[in-house]
Amino acid sequence: MSADQTTSNSGYLPRQQLRIRRWLMASSFYIVGVPFVWYGWKQGQMAPLASLLFVLLAVLGNGLLYWLFRSGRNNRYADPSLTTPQMLLAIVSTLIFTGGASATLRPTVSLGLLAPLIFGCFQLQQRQLIRLALFAIGGYGLMLLTVEISSGLHQPVVELVHWAGLSLMLGAFVAICGEITRMRDRQRQLAAQLQESADRDPLTGLYNRRWLARQVPPMLQLAQRHQRPYCACMLDIDHFKLINDQHGHLTGDSALQWVSAQIGNHLRKTDALIRAGGEEFLLLLPETDLHGAHELAERICQHLGSHPFAPAHQAPLAITVSIGVAALHPTDTLDHLIACADNAMYAAKQQGRNRVVLAGSQA
Ligand code: GH3
Ligand code: MG
Ligand code: MG
Repeated sequence: MSADQTTSNSGYLPRQQLRIRRWLMASSFYIVGVPFVWYGWKQGQMAPLASLLFVLLAVLGNGLLYWLFRSGRNNRYADPSLTTPQMLLAIVSTLIFTGGASATLRPTVSLGLLAPLIFGCFQLQQRQLIRLALFAIGGYGLMLLTVEISSGLHQPVVELVHWAGLSLMLGAFVAICGEITRMRDRQRQLAAQLQESADRDPLTGLYNRRWLARQVPPMLQLAQRHQRPYCACMLDIDHFKLINDQHGHLTGDSALQWVSAQIGNHLRKTDALIRAGGEEFLLLLPETDLHGAHELAERICQHLGSHPFAPAHQAPLAITVSIGVAALHPTDTLDHLIACADNAMYAAKQQGRNRVVLAGSQA
């Protein structure tokens, strides 16, 4: 059982809500833009066709995006946040807005091209941001050309200088956004590393009880719901205190690492090995019935019993384990399953150690 296998449905909703919240944030720019366009048109500062196109694109584009988010269809795409389509919509509508605006209004409106790039910092890589910035710069040039052909630019040189200035500004923005993107990726990486190290025992590298409490209960519920077999084994090293007393704690530590590696060699990818306590290990075996778990526990017990631990510069040490095996029942909780395996392990201790006992079979 790997940690990433356990992504529960609980992570889905907040992420989708966050996407809708970001879409709402972006669409608020259009909500401001529509009355602005209408006012500009009334004042003779906006061309009627561009005004109509802007409003149509804002309503239809955002309506489509909202429908994709609400229906969950956005999750079919590689980027479910639909960042690039949202940015393209914002760039194209801003270009239409600037194209329809009067020469006086145009420089102000063109600053709207910066907003989508900031928006992209949350999700995109710098390469994608560069492409979108080039699209915006190229689009602006095309828009100027269209205005020149259709009605003639009022002050072509001023407009060209403004275009160059805008291009520089977009370039600077992409450079800054690139830095933010790198910081964002580094922070995500650190958060993942922190999560991973909080879930692992530093000595053996095995999962710890924190991971167990967080990840395993949903897996058990799934097994119970689908009536799938699931077993737990509790392993405890026999007379481990003697190893510490006779050979020192460092050798004891190496013995713990060695034992965990030996157990790990017998497991499937879907099994989970947890350091449950000092010299106790918990094995969780999905899709395994009591018979299969018993066989595995016997194999581990016999392997450890017949392969002594050989610490550096010391004589080999015989290490044995006592194992309790329990199967998950339909109404069991994780705690109950562990308690059953634990009781069986203590029975194995009482029966002379270096053996396997099945829960329910002990006297
Ligand atoms: P039993 O067969 O009944 O299990 O006897 P035991 O000696 O293994 O059990 P006991 O509970 O008496 O002792 C466990 C020992 O494990 C005592 C403790 O110092 C040692 N221990 C626990 N954690 C660590 C660790 O991380 N490193 C080392 N070296 N020793 C540890
Ligand atoms: Mg012990
Ligand atoms: Mg113990």
